[in-house]
Amino acid sequence: MHAVVYHGPGEKSWQEVPDPKIADDGDAIVRITSTTICGTDLHILKGDVPAVTPGRILGHEAVGTVTETGPGVRTVKQGDRVLLSCISACGRCRFCREGRYGLCVGGGGWIFGHLIDGVQAELARVPFADTSTYQVPDELTDEQVLYLADILPTGYEVGVLNGHVQPGDTVAVVGSGPVGLAAILGARLYSPAAIVAIDPTPARRDWAEKFGAHVATTPEQARAEIDRLTDGLGADVAVEAVGIPQTFEQCTELIRPGGRVANVGVHGKPATLHLESLWIKGVTITTGLVDTFSTPTLLKSVAAGQIDPTRFTTHRFALQEAIQAYDTFARAGETNALKVMLTAEG
Ligand SMILES: [Zn+2]
Ligand SMILES: [Zn+2]
Repeated sequence: MHAVVYHGPGEKSWQEVPDPKIADDGDAIVRITSTTICGTDLHILKGDVPAVTPGRILGHEAVGTVTETGPGVRTVKQGDRVLLSCISACGRCRFCREGRYGLCVGGGGWIFGHLIDGVQAELARVPFADTSTYQVPDELTDEQVLYLADILPTGYEVGVLNGHVQPGDTVAVVGSGPVGLAAILGARLYSPAAIVAIDPTPARRDWAEKFGAHVATTPEQARAEIDRLTDGLGADVAVEAVGIPQTFEQCTELIRPGGRVANVGVHGKPATLHLESLWIKGVTITTGLVDTFSTPTLLKSVAAGQIDPTRFTTHRFALQEAIQAYDTFARAGETNALKVMLTAEG
């Protein structure tokens, strides 16, 4: 088969590799029909994720068809169409028993394209197939469910649910990349009074506006808009969807007393926590990796037409054009790429 293989910082190729084989009783082999590229894959390619070693197949978001299952697999069978998610779950450890699959200590968590070979490939080995795959309803297309592999549950769980967005809230979303936009879509399920998206990039503000948010370019503009909407109190919820110190601090400045800051961004550097001004405001700050416990719920929301994930696709490629797709996605500033969809032919 062919796959996208990481060869160290800055180096990747679409190349022939051995077909994956069942290695554990709970494994399934899945023929990938659709996959996509994540901002995290770009971080890996910069060398920011040293756990990813040369020779690793990249990718952690896909839809495919089961071709083979190990003898221990009970609920997934050959021919099933399944969603492969960024998070795998052993289903047995303390955290999996609590639905905190992102924290799995039994061999799951974020493993695809990280600790084991990923899904930007013609075939993938899927550990814990019973507890880590989601059956795709026949009436839904690959494109309708593909982004449920990562950005939608991430924006929803780590942004909207951790932030406890309530009807009537004013929600600030700092950063309008794919995850910030996913947080906007998720927040809208709770009928907030207003969502204010803050992003310096014009194309991203356009997206945020199309997704139903008010937009602001600078922190000052955002503050003025939120003051106007909240009689000067500040946002009820601020979602950080960038992952740099400035945007985290901005969230803590935009929040009202008693409000909630939900950090979604992946931080590479320490950020300052201004406890000297925050302590008296009773602000709650949450962080975390997605658990994907909401994936079945989001699948129902998509089937019911409450969420339309196909809006994220800006570019389409054949699976074997993966390197071209990476180039388009990496140059999002010029190409305005949000999500690129790669589809296997035939
Ligand atoms: Zn991802
Ligand atoms: Zn586990």
